[in-house]
Amino acid sequence: MSRSKRSDQTKTNNKGQRMLALAVLLLLIAGGLFVIKYFGTGDDGGDIPEWSDNGGTSAEEQSGLPEYSGSNYVALNNNVPDFPGEMYDKAGLVNSGGKWKTPGTLSGVDSRKLQPYEYYGELDELGRCTVAYGCLGLETMPPGGEERGDISSIHPSGWAKAQNWERAHLIAWALSNENANERNLITGTHYLNYDGMRPLEEEVEHYIWDTGNHVLYLAKPVFSGKEKVARGVNMMAWSVEDGGAGISFNVYCFNVTPGAEIDYNTGIVTTAEQAAQDARRYVINTRSGVFHYPSCDGAKQISARNRKEVTATRSELTSKGYTPCGYCEP
Ligand SMILES: [Zn+2]
Repeated sequence: MSRSKRSDQTKTNNKGQRMLALAVLLLLIAGGLFVIKYFGTGDDGGDIPEWSDNGGTSAEEQSGLPEYSGSNYVALNNNVPDFPGEMYDKAGLVNSGGKWKTPGTLSGVDSRKLQPYEYYGELDELGRCTVAYGCLGLETMPPGGEERGDISSIHPSGWAKAQNWERAHLIAWALSNENANERNLITGTHYLNYDGMRPLEEEVEHYIWDTGNHVLYLAKPVFSGKEKVARGVNMMAWSVEDGGAGISFNVYCFNVTPGAEIDYNTGIVTTAEQAAQDARRYVINTRSGVFHYPSCDGAKQISARNRKEVTATRSELTSKGYTPCGYCEP
């Protein structure tokens, strides 16, 4: 009985020692993990701040936008223009029996009574373009021999350096003779400019040159939530004198670069090639949030206090809100 009891006690003591040893071991492992997590291994850039959402977009807000699926533009409203009423008023058009006419003109539209004009909406509270429209004709187009002006002074909302952004006219220069008008220029991809908008702009331009007729024309950038870069541009056009027989469309052009990822808040573009890059050494200015290749002069000038070297992929840095240097273009 007593022997058995002693044996039980021994057993209990052994069990207690084993549990103590296990607990100590677990503490050591946890402690080690703590040290790695909070003090870093010297190579993992452990204190990169979390990217804070600066007013992005909910799924609900995005749901109304067409999804890019390979076409440079898609039709809206069955390709039928849906202009605000004041566009007709400003052009001097009245509706008579379902047709738009110039008043007192029996046959329909008298070109001489039409009022060519251009309207550029004020920037919104986020500094974004709102809308541009007009009744376009030879009167609004650049006179022969006119050359395009410099528009590089304009930095449209969402503009980020070294991301291959272009300044995209809402109403093309060839139709409006507008140069550095901040209400008419948005941050756009080459694809938006040349594959999306340009063929439509040229169609209108050639129609006006060929006929001398006028075209009601609207271009409206479409933003998602509070994003600074437009997701696309809604373009509508309708030839006035022939009631839309020559020109009539209502489309949405995508502000994308096929294969690239665009952050529509920051304007940072990640090409497929950049997304596939391995982790490498970068130097971050923790004060400005700009990152560089270590060889960049800009990186060498960062004060020790604000300088941080990390090994990371470009995507990891941009997704945390860091922006690539405009000089070394990492
Ligand atoms: Zn740099």
